[in-house]
Order: sequence, then structure tokens, then C-alpha cells
Amino acid sequence: MRAMVLSEVGRPLAAADLPVPTPGPGQVRLRVTACGVCRTDLHLIDGEVAVGQVPRVLGHQIVGIVEGSGERVGVPWLASTCGVCTYCTSGRENLCAAARFTGRDIDGGFAEWAIADQRFCFPIPAGYPDEQAAPLLCAGLIGDRALRMCGDAHRIGLFGFGAAAHILTQVAIWEGREVYGFTRPGDEPAQVFARSLGASWVGPSHTPPPEPLDAAIVFAPVGELVPLALRAVAPGGTVVCGGIHMSDIPSFPYADLWMERSIRSVANLTREDGLRLLALAPQIPIRTQVTTYALADVNDALDDLRAGRFTGAAVIIP
Ligand SMILES: [Zn+2]
Ligand SMILES: [Zn+2]
Repeated sequence: MRAMVLSEVGRPLAAADLPVPTPGPGQVRLRVTACGVCRTDLHLIDGEVAVGQVPRVLGHQIVGIVEGSGERVGVPWLASTCGVCTYCTSGRENLCAAARFTGRDIDGGFAEWAIADQRFCFPIPAGYPDEQAAPLLCAGLIGDRALRMCGDAHRIGLFGFGAAAHILTQVAIWEGREVYGFTRPGDEPAQVFARSLGASWVGPSHTPPPEPLDAAIVFAPVGELVPLALRAVAPGGTVVCGGIHMSDIPSFPYADLWMERSIRSVANLTREDGLRLLALAPQIPIRTQVTTYALADVNDALDDLRAGRFTGAAVIIP
């Protein structure tokens, strides 16, 4: 089968002709119909997040058809967990130390075929074309988990207006919240995009919002944004860091954290998170904006993501 593999950290993905993978016990084989591109893929390529072993097929927002049953499923970042540790048995399988991740510890979806543990696959809601569903599987699920960490905050700031923020804006507005979108300075297309999705206010990330926020989520992998977000939230407010990797956070005065402000991260997802968002998506309904690329062009998609050349999400169609 055709696949695009990471064969050396720091190098672009390379075309490879691999054997069609054979499913083990409890696994299914999928014909990949779409696979979303995520910033985590850039972190894996750049060596900021360690990949278990090379060569590795990246891609962890897989939509595919199960061989045999014909069922259409989604495969997320969380590939498997131990099932018995204190995290797994207390509703926090996202923190399992033995968790394995799609497109990092096992081969992912930048290929014509993939295998997955069927207990970690989600049914894809009817009415979502494959490419529209793919970005829900990481940008949507982990973004939504970050939104849950904001509690009942009314005014939510989103720092970095990419794939996750464009989905989250729709969820937050549907829940009756107000969204404040922060983009890279001068990123006019992202600002127009955020406004078109219903953001109450949009501005560059270094500009304070017109009124204090109740919570903020930092999706951009830029540590400098954390103190900015902290200064934008009111007493009692939370800043949630939604990415797997971020540059170092600069020091800041304790006064910015004082008054019960908090900073936390969000890691991975639980299957419960997945079922929740995929059930909610058609009710809102969430509409994803996607730019599609052929499998052979995955490096173009990654370059465009790095440079911020599209709004919404990038999806590979094998
Ligand atoms: Zn991801
Ligand atoms: Zn566990």
C-alpha cells in the first residue's frame, strides 16, 4: 500500500510502499478514506514530541471503512490503554502511563490502510462526509475537553484560531457562551474567519480584550501567550493549555496569577470525550472547514499548517 512515513526526525515525510497491515486480536483493518493533519504531526516531525520508533506512519484523525463489516468509524489519537491502572479505572484513561497513541506508537492514517483497536474506534455520525468528520477526531475532541475544563465560563478567549478553535467556537456559541478570538498579529484571514463563525470580538494576541474573560484556551504552541492569556482573565479565571507541546513559558509577576486564577494543561482524550462530542456534533451542527490534499501531498499540507496558509483544518484523502 502507499503510505507517507516519518523515517527520520527533522526530515519531510517520505513516500513508501508498505505491506497492508495485518490486524491482531481485537483489532480491525480500515480502508482509510480521510485523515486529518494536526499540529502534533509537526511536533513529531520536528522532534518536539518523541516518536516511539521510525519509520512510522503518522496521522491520528482517521476516518475509514472497517473491512468485513463496512462500518464507517473514526480512529483518534488514543490508540489503547492498560485498562487496569488507577487512571484507567477512574475515568482518566487519557493519563494512563501505558497508553499508546495512533501515529506515534502505532502506525496511523497517512496511508491507504490502517489497523486499530476496535474498542477505541468511534462510529461517525451519519451526514458527515469523511473529510468533514476527520478534524472532529483530534482538533474537536481535545478542543472540547479543553472547553470542559473551563467549567461554566461565559466569556472564553481562544488563542490561536486554527482547526480546534474553529470547531470550539461553534460548540461554545451553541452553549450560549461568548467567544473572543485571538490570532497572530496581522492574520486578517483568521480574524475574518473567526468573525464569520460568530466570535464576539477578534483581535491580535497581544491586544487585551475589551472586558475580562472568564477563561481562555491557548491552542497555539507559543509559551509567550500564557502570561498574556492570564492577564486577560478575571479573578477566578482559568487558562487552559490545549496543545501537546509549547515553547517555554516566560516568567511573569505573581500578581497575574493571584486572585485564584489558574493555569492547567489538557492531555489526550478519553473515549467518553469522543462519544460526547460525536453525539453533539450533528445537533449543533458543527460544520468543519477543510482543505483537502492527496496522500502524496501531505508535506504540502504540513507546510501550509506551519505557515498558517489555510483557515480551518487540513485533511488527507488517500
Ligand atoms: Zn492531534
Ligand atoms: Zn492505564
